[in-house]
Amino acid sequence: MIRPVIILVDMLNDFVTGVLRARRAENIIVPLQCLVSGAHEKGVPVVFSNDAHYSQDYEITQKWAPHAIKGTLGAEVILELAPDLTKDFIVEKHTYSGFYETGLDLLLRDLYRGEGAKTVIFGGLHTHMCVRHTVADAFFRGYSIIVASDGTEAFTAQYHNQGLKYLKNVYGAKILTVKEIVEDLDKNIIR
Ligand code: ZN
Repeated sequence: MIRPVIILVDMLNDFVTGVLRARRAENIIVPLQCLVSGAHEKGVPVVFSNDAHYSQDYEITQKWAPHAIKGTLGAEVILELAPDLTKDFIVEKHTYSGFYETGLDLLLRDLYRGEGAKTVIFGGLHTHMCVRHTVADAFFRGYSIIVASDGTEAFTAQYHNQGLKYLKNVYGAKILTVKEIVEDLDKNIIR
């Protein structure tokens, strides 16, 4: 794969064990640990795309109970996947898409000595919501998209499976397992 980057969406305390807990999130902790360690081994950048809400964010006032409020423990990445701040990136977001009004696209374009990331690999929560909207924005910007089938989850198996199908059908996302992704991670990488 060409100039890959990993994007982990909303692996935060509030989504895994807190106010918006999804029980199924537990399923993806170990696979995502493998994905991150594989990426670190091969020098592939890892970006954490994290909700960091202000209480006046539209999502909070109009739709969901307060969650992942900036500065609270609920807005921190779960301990099992804690970012290595010497090399990983954290990009905060205020709604579903990790690209919407954030610096994510600039960050991706500057990677690989300005060649820019090309292949964007997604893990995290939820397949049919924040992952889906972030994949859409990646598609609009011309990135190749891979989604980890065992590295994404949702409230129900149905939401997850329908989410994956939508990403494949609408954005041409390749749906691969973490094992398949890690095996292929260093192909054509520029060091
Ligand atoms: Zn949110």
